[in-house]
Amino acid sequence: MFGGIEAGGTKFVCVVGDGPEEILERKRIDTTDPSTTLAACLEFFAGHEPIRALGIASFGPLELRRSHPDYGRVTTTPKPGWSGADLVGPFVERLGVPVAVDTDVNGAALAEVRWGAAMGLRNAVYVTVGTGVGGGAVIDGTPVAGLVHPEMGHVSISRLPGDDFDGVCPFHGDCFEGMASGPAIEARWGRPAEEVEDTQRLVEIEAATIAAGLRQIVYVLAPERIVLGGGVSKLAGLHDRVNIELVGQMSKYAVMAAHQSGFVVPPGLGDDAGVAGALALAAAAL
Ligand code: ZN
Repeated sequence: MFGGIEAGGTKFVCVVGDGPEEILERKRIDTTDPSTTLAACLEFFAGHEPIRALGIASFGPLELRRSHPDYGRVTTTPKPGWSGADLVGPFVERLGVPVAVDTDVNGAALAEVRWGAAMGLRNAVYVTVGTGVGGGAVIDGTPVAGLVHPEMGHVSISRLPGDDFDGVCPFHGDCFEGMASGPAIEARWGRPAEEVEDTQRLVEIEAATIAAGLRQIVYVLAPERIVLGGGVSKLAGLHDRVNIELVGQMSKYAVMAAHQSGFVVPPGLGDDAGVAGALALAAAAL
């Protein structure tokens, strides 16, 4: 039996279970200050059968180098009170089991490899396109992190011909996130995606833009599959269109043709990627 925590900016979700299909209990805790929030999580796990390991799939940025004195801490975040918060120490101390922490997207990537749409692969990437754009990578079975964790949402992408949209990333303007996220759609169209009437054009632009971002990821990491999730990915027909665009944009790399369908796929774990990721991190911690 594993413990998992999906740690988000508005809520922490604690679960006990063997996997996403076998969650015995879950509790939602509002994210307030770190000591109150983590104490409520500890209370949840104290009230259960002992767990063998705990996984925490968290918002970031996080210090993930195990040799670093600040391992498991949130580094700098605009969220009041959370900069420097220790996500791991309190659980190691009180629960006495292995505790692993990683980004929510690395957790989701690991869960998709273990139980979901990338099951059985050694190298896969999970990308979420929603309020923001983020990505997690599993390479040779292990989530990737180093100096920092990957920030795939901020790679530079090439513009579509004739596109003069400025993008919305506060740091870069027209990076992947700045051009493809939900807020980018809203700024480009003057309304949220669900209110855009020309859905065909919306999907065309969005798929081409997402493909431009995924192309960078494929060139650098060479994943065997990309799981594309997040609210924007639910636009009807988006995954098919992204596959076509990606192959088109990578036309000189013939190997990609083999992947035309089924290379970029929807999540197998649906909207439960956060807690599934946390349980996958727990399993890996053992
Ligand atoms: Zn950016």
